[in-house]
Amino acid sequence: MMAAMPSEAAADPDPVATVRRWVDAARRVVVLTGAGISTESGIPDFRGPQGVWTRNPQAEKQSTLQHYLADPEVRKAAWRSRLAHPAWTAQPGRGHLALVALERRGRLHALITQNIDELHRIAGNSPARTIEVHGTMRRVVCWGCGDRMPMQEVLARVRAGEDDPACPRCGGILKSDTISFGQALVPEVIDRALAAAGEADLLLAVGTTLQVYPVAGMVPLAKEAGARVVIVNDQPTALDALADAVLRGPIGELLPVICGD
Ligand SMILES: [Zn+2]
Repeated sequence: MMAAMPSEAAADPDPVATVRRWVDAARRVVVLTGAGISTESGIPDFRGPQGVWTRNPQAEKQSTLQHYLADPEVRKAAWRSRLAHPAWTAQPGRGHLALVALERRGRLHALITQNIDELHRIAGNSPARTIEVHGTMRRVVCWGCGDRMPMQEVLARVRAGEDDPACPRCGGILKSDTISFGQALVPEVIDRALAAAGEADLLLAVGTTLQVYPVAGMVPLAKEAGARVVIVNDQPTALDALADAVLRGPIGELLPVICGD
């Protein structure tokens, strides 16, 4: 049996303990998170079996910039789903709290997230170390004048009967301040994230299928710069073959063990 193992890593009888040792020895852990870290908080992911787009392919249209801007019906549906979004009552999960502990322990260099729920900040990670590459659903931006306002202000108008609320300043189309499909990333934000990934001595990718670039590209980037790469996810990812260790299991159980106090 041992002879069949392709590598030393695969033969590791306790990869969780090994990763814990790596985390303890690291000076600049860069964590990259995706939707999988928030499912324990009741926020569904996109592509999983219970994912938003798996269950309702129409919902993907609401996340596509050209459809959103062109079609008031798409916007009305988007506002209805924002109103009902589980994020408004969600609490950080064990995975989020483990990353707060990692920062408290002085190991966290940067926390790069594809999530728009702000649960990392709500859990207590400092804004200075948290890089939200896809923006935040807790804020609204006007597509006309660029003005930004709290999401809850606009949702109050939806609740009061406006089905497609317009910008109070210029009458423009309002959208959550997130990166939709067909929308460019914010260059300063993605540059900051890429720079941090290049400075990592350990890159921990958590709850992301690593299919969306340029974010997924941080994994090979960190690896080439000399970092160890650890992937934690409950399903296989596109970049498992690049990782020094892949931990497959519930994020809420694994992260406290590898990052916690
Ligand atoms: Zn405006």
